[in-house]
Amino acid sequence: MHAKELAVAPPFRRVLGAEIVIRPDIDTDALGTFSGDVPRPDALVETCVLKAELAFQSLDVDCAIANEGSYGPIDAVPLTSGGVEIMAFVDRRRGIRMVETLPTHRTSWRLLRFKAGDPNVRIVAKAMGFPRYGVFVVCSSDWSRPIKDLTTLDDVVSAMDQEARRSEDGFAVLFSDMRAHRNPLRMRVLRALAWKLAKRLERLCPKCDAPGFGSIGNRRGLPCEDCGAPTHWVHFEIDGCSVCGHAETRPRKDGRTTAKKLSCSSCSPK
Ligand SMILES: [Zn+2]
Ligand SMILES: [Zn+2]
Repeated sequence: MHAKELAVAPPFRRVLGAEIVIRPDIDTDALGTFSGDVPRPDALVETCVLKAELAFQSLDVDCAIANEGSYGPIDAVPLTSGGVEIMAFVDRRRGIRMVETLPTHRTSWRLLRFKAGDPNVRIVAKAMGFPRYGVFVVCSSDWSRPIKDLTTLDDVVSAMDQEARRSEDGFAVLFSDMRAHRNPLRMRVLRALAWKLAKRLERLCPKCDAPGFGSIGNRRGLPCEDCGAPTHWVHFEIDGCSVCGHAETRPRKDGRTTAKKLSCSSCSPK
């Protein structure tokens, strides 16, 4: 619905030679939307995997991708103007469910309240990037009916006045439309996340050849440079396969083989 294939198709074609087809008849808004008018059935990651699996209902494909994002306080992300993007990949033939995430501060997310007739609405909407970036308008005392797809500044102003007048507290709320097709910055973040996911899938498991071999965690206990006791620093990284369970360790990226004495609880007790 929101043209996310523009962000996903190029990396998947370039990295994996994969063709992306879209299933335009899915109403993914039923699973939860940015305007907060439909409750989310589940946690973000689960919603995202569920969304991907919806594709199998009507498309004869083995693999599906879906994205879920959360910005600002609307979805209770503990960042005032940041967010997180989640991209799920499901391969039902090989039994792969892979989720990549990208936390980001690169967001234009804003939310402000105004009374009817406030001249600042125009200035603020422009500062929010409107009309290149979309905005939503909602009544402060009733969030059930957000107004979307406004195209001119005059429309934004009259929607704000109308919603402020019917609000119990006299305020209307103006906030960023985070739907990908109305938010160029979000589209760029999605492209970066799609690259990350495609690069992950490009790596095959050395044991069973399943795609998606990669980081599954790390182990702490890097030895102290002075006494050799294990510290809380990461000792090595672990790559794994989600299909056969094969795992391999690799040394830290920065090449460190010992931890600073200051981080050692034996040498520097607190
Ligand atoms: Zn030590
Ligand atoms: Zn494997």
